Amino acid sequence: MTTLKMPKVDNNTLKDKNKIVKDLGEFTDKKNILFEIEELKPYETDGLTAYKQTPLVVVLPENKKEVSQILSYCNKNNLKIVPRGAGTGLSGGSLPLADCVLLSLGKFNKILEVDYKNRCVVAQPCVTNLSITEAVQENNFYYAPDPSSQLACSIGGNVAENSGGVHSLKYGATTNNLLGIEVVLMDGTIVKFGGKTFDSEGYDFLGLMTGSEGLLGVITEVTVKILKSPENVKAALVGFPTIEDAGNCVSQIIADGIIPAGMEIMDKALTKATNDFSKAGYPVDAEAMMIVELDGTELEVNELIKKVELIAKKNNCSSIKISKTKEERLKFWAGRKAAFPACGVLAPDYMCMDGSIPRSKLAEVLKEITKLSKKYNLPVANAFHAGDGNLHPLIMFDANDEESLRKTEEFGAEILKYCVKVGGALTGEHGVGIEKRELMCEAFNNNDIQQQLNIKIALDPSSLLNPGKVYPILRKCAEEGRVHVHGGKTKFPDIPRF
Ligand SMILES: Cc1cc2nc3c(=O)[nH]c(=O)nc-3n(C[C@H](O)[C@H](O)[C@H](O)COP(=O)(O)OP(=O)(O)OC[C@H]3O[C@@H](n4cnc5c(N)ncnc54)[C@H](O)[C@@H]3O)c2cc1C
Repeated sequence: MTTLKMPKVDNNTLKDKNKIVKDLGEFTDKKNILFEIEELKPYETDGLTAYKQTPLVVVLPENKKEVSQILSYCNKNNLKIVPRGAGTGLSGGSLPLADCVLLSLGKFNKILEVDYKNRCVVAQPCVTNLSITEAVQENNFYYAPDPSSQLACSIGGNVAENSGGVHSLKYGATTNNLLGIEVVLMDGTIVKFGGKTFDSEGYDFLGLMTGSEGLLGVITEVTVKILKSPENVKAALVGFPTIEDAGNCVSQIIADGIIPAGMEIMDKALTKATNDFSKAGYPVDAEAMMIVELDGTELEVNELIKKVELIAKKNNCSSIKISKTKEERLKFWAGRKAAFPACGVLAPDYMCMDGSIPRSKLAEVLKEITKLSKKYNLPVANAFHAGDGNLHPLIMFDANDEESLRKTEEFGAEILKYCVKVGGALTGEHGVGIEKRELMCEAFNNNDIQQQLNIKIALDPSSLLNPGKVYPILRKCAEEGRVHVHGGKTKFPDIPRF
């Protein structure tokens, strides 16, 4: 992970820039093609800001026919293409390549249909996650997966990353709330998977495309489920003297058969930073803080809150505050949702890791992270989607210091390896992108990876769609008909940082 290798830059493509710009003008209005350096700059990174690369050209198609023509053109002319939604991804999935056409879905920003009878919304991919809830909330409906970035991130990006949020514990991640998609494949073919029904015949291509990180196709339309808003919602803010107590409390709540709408833990460092930032009224002296949200009928919620209080007390909690009003509950969450930006006061930069672990391993993994923090001499703050076992250690560093970035990457890699070691996974929701690409071999053996790559080859034989992401691929598969897992022998130029 320390030296990031990317697919070899094709110098002929760089030389052909003017021709490519002219050719793209055949498929979409010229105003939708950006090629001057100052126009390209805003697209050179995503939420993983440690890496930057200016693309060759950016194209913003206006409809699926244009997307299809552009992909077909790139396919015929051996041009790499990187799809991009809102660019909030934290694993570098939409990081451009120097010789790529960056395909921004920015103009696909309309809600196409609100269908209450079938309880779904049909939207273009660059509609923001929050806009879907906003479109239906006056009728007491909402879209359940709620990433903290929901104000900005796109629903197409959510599908590509299988994004989750604090409410995924009870209502599932994107994959559990997705009914259908329209996708343009690399050769320009437009296909639909799923629709408005809960299941469809044939292979589960909808499942395959969800979380495919822009490697298998470009999503041009999304149909998602909407849910009726619960009658009653309450949240509890609970402080604990140790992380172990908080972890045990989470496990006990689940073991007792309670599935809260959300259940989050933050460690002391992050609780303090977020409280200073958002004045959420958090117990700043506690070693760990938990927010638990219960929803349902009034009777049900009151009953569940009592049970949670009892379990928290049995696990030595030092404080409990129950929300009395909707405003108070939203204030509890506002702090958690602003946890990442709040880290801005702790260090010039932070890198947000995203591992998944069995809930019972929380205390063990956090102890290991503290040990590693000392080893690398880099502070860390931890947020945890505790119910789902999804851990977000935020490593504080200085991106202007090359050595600090190198140490951060090594530290992050060690955390993720440890997550795999205790039976977890490299990612809970942020995807693999470039960030965890070289770690895929920790989680999968060569056969596993090869089988996954065979699917990629079937849909994109020349590996032109978002190459260099997710899999440690280092050469075009078309040349040999197979994709080879990186053996460390082939050298490609490093992608420039900053
Ligand atoms: C402050 C902050 C908080 C966050 N909190 C959460 C959180 O709580 N939960 C969570 O899951 N994530 C979170 N994220 C990560 C990020 O917001 C999600 O991964 C989100 O789904 C990315 O959407 P995007 O539109 O920004 O996609 P981008 O960053 O533009 O792209 C992400 C990936 O999807 C691909 N892609 C995008 N659009 C398409 C498309 N239409 N067709 C095919 N491929 C496409 C890209 O090629 C890339 O590989 C957070 C990020 C930030 C900055």
